Amino acid sequence: MWVRSQWRMMGSSVQPECLFCRIYREGDHVRKADGFAAVRDINPRAETHLLVIPERHVETFRDIREFPAEEVARMLEFVAGTAREAGLEDYRVVVNVGAGGGQTIFHLHWHVLGGQMTGMPG
Ligand code: AMP
Ligand code: ZN
Repeated sequence: MWVRSQWRMMGSSVQPECLFCRIYREGDHVRKADGFAAVRDINPRAETHLLVIPERHVETFRDIREFPAEEVARMLEFVAGTAREAGLEDYRVVVNVGAGGGQTIFHLHWHVLGGQMTGMPG
């Protein structure tokens, strides 16, 4: 859901400014259901590198309390289901929190990394 702070006035038109809000709406999804989408990372650090993006815009994992508890549970199940459907049994789930934690996109997202890794995301 869009809130006013996610939009920037540019001249007479209103432009969305959050990349992951846009990717949630119109990206090339591996899967999408119930307010969550999974996409391939544009700069993969592993053989399989997917991102799980919730529809709800919160800037970082620090703000996780903004999610209703049942939505958190569904989000974690979506992360696990994304790995399962990608054929992964063993994998890493990474959330970079804040710039000092390697976060570069300020819309909460979960990295799912499987197979040979070439570095940490972020
Ligand atoms: P983080 O550094 O944890 O904020 O992760 C952001 C991730 O988004 C990085 O791994 C980027 O490679 C990835 N990324 C940036 N732009 C795109 C895009 N347009 N489509 C898919 N992944 C992207
Ligand atoms: Zn967003």
